[in-house]
Amino acid sequence: MACIFCKIIAGEIPSVKIYEDESVLAILDINPVNEGHALVIPKQHYENLEALPVVDLLALSKVLKKIGLALKEGFGAVGYNITLNNDPVAGQIIPHFHWHIIPRLPADGLKVWPQQPYESNEKMAEVARKISQAL
Ligand code: AMP
Ligand code: ZN
Repeated sequence: MACIFCKIIAGEIPSVKIYEDESVLAILDINPVNEGHALVIPKQHYENLEALPVVDLLALSKVLKKIGLALKEGFGAVGYNITLNNDPVAGQIIPHFHWHIIPRLPADGLKVWPQQPYESNEKMAEVARKISQAL
């Protein structure tokens, strides 16, 4: 078994757990964006969101909600970001699906994504058509 998260789930390498149930494990990220940055991981190995069954997505979502509340009510976060690096091109390093949940404070200095407008309404409509036709 090469997957580092599978090894953590199997107890073969250590982690700092904050939550566990029959299908989900949540641990602190060893290299946090902010203190309290956690990873919410299905116990079964699925590589990305497309591979993840909806039932597991629901179980993970329930845990995200719990941890989000705990970050605000118990840890002093004012808000949080939930992110998914889906596939290597999106920054996924560990090929075992996981949500990142990152506590936010007003003055933490973190910048979110750079954004820019579409070059035209036609371009925007074309993009929408390509995506919606594939749904
Ligand atoms: P990603 O780029 O979405 O695959 O993120 C992988 C995350 O896992 C990174 O933020 C790493 O800091 C974190 N990470 C790597 N190894 C460990 C580990 N042994 N325990 C906790 N977090 C880890
Ligand atoms: Zn795995």
